[in-house]
Amino acid sequence: MADRRLLMIPGPIEFEPDVLATLGERTRSHLDPTFIEAFGRALENTRKVFLAGADSQPFVIAGSGTLAMDMAVANVVEPGDSALVVETGWFSQRMADILARWGAKVTSVAAPPGDAPSLEAVRDALRQARPKIVTVTHVDTSTGVRADVEGIAKLAREHDALTIVDGVCSVGGEVLRQEQWGVDLALTGSQKALGVPPGLAVLVAGPRAMAAFRARKSKLASIYLDFAEWLPVMEAYEARKPYYFATPAVNLVAAYDTSLGKLLVEGMDARFARHAKMASAFRAAWQAMELRTVPVREHLTANTLSAPYFPAGVDTTLPGKIGAEGIVVAGGLYPTIKTQYFRVGHMGSIHPNDVLATVGAIERALAKAGWKRDGLSAAAAALSA
Ligand SMILES: *Cc1c(COP(=O)(O)O)cnc(C)c1O
Repeated sequence: MADRRLLMIPGPIEFEPDVLATLGERTRSHLDPTFIEAFGRALENTRKVFLAGADSQPFVIAGSGTLAMDMAVANVVEPGDSALVVETGWFSQRMADILARWGAKVTSVAAPPGDAPSLEAVRDALRQARPKIVTVTHVDTSTGVRADVEGIAKLAREHDALTIVDGVCSVGGEVLRQEQWGVDLALTGSQKALGVPPGLAVLVAGPRAMAAFRARKSKLASIYLDFAEWLPVMEAYEARKPYYFATPAVNLVAAYDTSLGKLLVEGMDARFARHAKMASAFRAAWQAMELRTVPVREHLTANTLSAPYFPAGVDTTLPGKIGAEGIVVAGGLYPTIKTQYFRVGHMGSIHPNDVLATVGAIERALAKAGWKRDGLSAAAAALSA
């Protein structure tokens, strides 16, 4: 039988056939009118997906989510700037590393794995550090913890700091209202909730982030990361004109255009609601199967992935056993607890049937490992609620 295993990791995810079909079309010149139209439309639609203002600037660049993180930091940080990292997992720590590499003085406000610092703790840290930049990981994929981006961005504004949101595991799945929430720079990678194969870094810089970039005293040490090189490219394509700086990932950009078109047909609010519903069915299943999760409270629990602990007597061989039941899930990632839990991605075009197939495979694998619990009934009930 063909490999029909369902990819349920926190990126890459299962992609829609028409997105893959676009990806597989003949490669056009980056100067071809059809491509110019697709890229221009994709840039316009990027703003709509991020719910960003008309005065914001999207960048779509070949690279992964980490490139988007590097690019965001590189363009607004100058050596000696102070930055505050709201730490909710391993990807927040990566952001701290990136900030330090670009010369920022980094302070972190952290919580134990599975928790998030309170807004009071963030406020205290802002008062002490007086940072130019605050970074927050919307959903930290290592822990499944979702941060209060709206609350943190508001506090950052009050303290005159720019907010950078790592939305790699959230944009297109979790509610993110970039303009309304006052998020200055938000970023993601194509392969997660935006539903496009890996390879595109996507950033939307608001007016304050662009002003910070324009006010730089030093030239960027990297040409590929420099907004100054990419800005004419993005502006030109949006005006439906070609412009060359470095060859765009033509096929991926075309697939990205197809996928964003589909996202907007569904509608962002409907999409957020669907992710919330699928996640609630998973949460009902974890509870029914008596699996504790890494996020310690319901409101910290992401809608784009789950991170359940292994129950007593079950170990790191479980993800492989779930794979044998037809569903690909991921192991743990946060260093101090990585052998104690596994991760299930549920974003993008996730459908109730995917939820039931996944819960069923986990239930069967757990039963084989000696943990017999019914998760399917609870998931099915939550889906029909
Ligand atoms: C996946 C992920 C990244 C890294 O993205 P890559 O595409 O793997 O480079 C960064 N931050 C978060 C929150 C992620 O989920």
